[in-house]
Amino acid sequence: MTSCIFCSIIAGDIPSKKIYEDEHTYAFFDISQVTKGHTLVVPKNHHENLFDLPESELNHVYQSVQKVGHALKETFSPAGLNLVNNNGEAAGQTVFHYHVHLIPRYDSTDGFRAKWEEHGSEYSEADLEAMRVELVQSLSK
Ligand code: AMP
Ligand code: ZN
Repeated sequence: MTSCIFCSIIAGDIPSKKIYEDEHTYAFFDISQVTKGHTLVVPKNHHENLFDLPESELNHVYQSVQKVGHALKETFSPAGLNLVNNNGEAAGQTVFHYHVHLIPRYDSTDGFRAKWEEHGSEYSEADLEAMRVELVQSLSK
């Protein structure tokens, strides 16, 4: 058995509530069921996070995310759907095998909260322009 819990789930060594499986991806209920139908989509190959995931696998993962998202919408009729992907411990990642959370949303008391604080006023126009230039330079390397 591997030390990665999601690799063990994919291998069938640990039970899961499987929703969908294809050649490249596996989808199953998150044990925490933050909201009804909370599902995880993972690539079958072990990659720790977004930064390690090959582009081809990213494509497969998001094809499955959309497929499962449609099924959640049709089946449970949520009012919305949040996709959450935590990369790195600082971002809240606890299982280090890439995964996307599909969290159906029903109302403001359904169990999911995302806190967004606005900090736009802390950056001057010059700050934002310097940040933009730095990032664009990184992208053109
Ligand atoms: P994250 O914190 O983004 O890394 O998410 C990891 C998720 O994996 C959490 O929401 C856990 O509830 C979920 N999880 C951990 N172990 C299992 C398991 N055996 N079956 C289903 N979900 C799990
Ligand atoms: Zn793994």
